[in-house]
Amino acid sequence: MSTRELVVLGTASQVPTRARNHNGYLLRWDGEGFLFDPGDGTQRQLAHAGLAASDLTRLCLTHFHGDHCLGVPGVVQRMSLDRVRHPVYAHYPASGREFFARLRYASVYHEAADLREEPVEADGVIGTGAFGTLSARRLDHGVESFGYRIEEPDGRRMLPDRLAAAGVHGPQVGRLQADGRIEVGGRAVALDEVSEHRRGQRFAFVMDTRLCEGVGALLDGADLAVVESTFLDADADLAAAYGHLTAGQAARAAAECGVRTLVLTHFSQRYDDPAAFRAEAARHFGGTVVVAADLDRIPVPGRR
Ligand SMILES: [Zn+2]
Repeated sequence: MSTRELVVLGTASQVPTRARNHNGYLLRWDGEGFLFDPGDGTQRQLAHAGLAASDLTRLCLTHFHGDHCLGVPGVVQRMSLDRVRHPVYAHYPASGREFFARLRYASVYHEAADLREEPVEADGVIGTGAFGTLSARRLDHGVESFGYRIEEPDGRRMLPDRLAAAGVHGPQVGRLQADGRIEVGGRAVALDEVSEHRRGQRFAFVMDTRLCEGVGALLDGADLAVVESTFLDADADLAAAYGHLTAGQAARAAAECGVRTLVLTHFSQRYDDPAAFRAEAARHFGGTVVVAADLDRIPVPGRR
């Protein structure tokens, strides 16, 4: 069984609190581990979550405010200490190359991991693999910021009863999938007859931003979306001034874009009641709302 889940490592914006670590999110997607925005303390949060440095395959930073990147030194050094063997790709806004270099070489260590920097220059696809595509979209924050989206290609779901009726068995199924048709007992069976369209799963990661075109592009049809909601609607003027979203704005955008599960996070320390974020979001969004807490594990919702 493949695992597709979001492991929440931290949920605080700007200042960690007793209950909330700085940001940090690990998306486990089959064999991949996408680490988004590791804030201060991420290395230890990985340990609390029972995860290892070797679980990471990509590092994706939205921008270079500390709550989104101060965990890079610890994580990067740990990858070398643990002798992670596979390449790990690092994506971040290209304008922050110098910041990334400082974080990567913040102190002395023996660099053994194969960390490959692939800075993001513009909107578009930045990585491909068995998982599908990883793309970036520009957001609207005080500094250059990109959100990320993972998209699995659409495929075909095999229908066992139709396969049986057509007399297609065992290794013939694999051949039919590869070739699109197969001869069975003198009759041609086409893939379309014994399978149905299977929509690929989509994940979106939207951090520090005001509402903008990029938010919609990232969220479009996402099965699971992580969206910052630093503020509540009552403080919408602060959200606008500092380049953030409210829970209400995040929920309205998610509803318009057909998101299925909305994970709210990156909370300002000015609020102490997470229930207020859920209530505000539920007024606008009919899907599943998760007000993220540290060390939550949130499954990518099952295929429909
Ligand atoms: Zn932030």
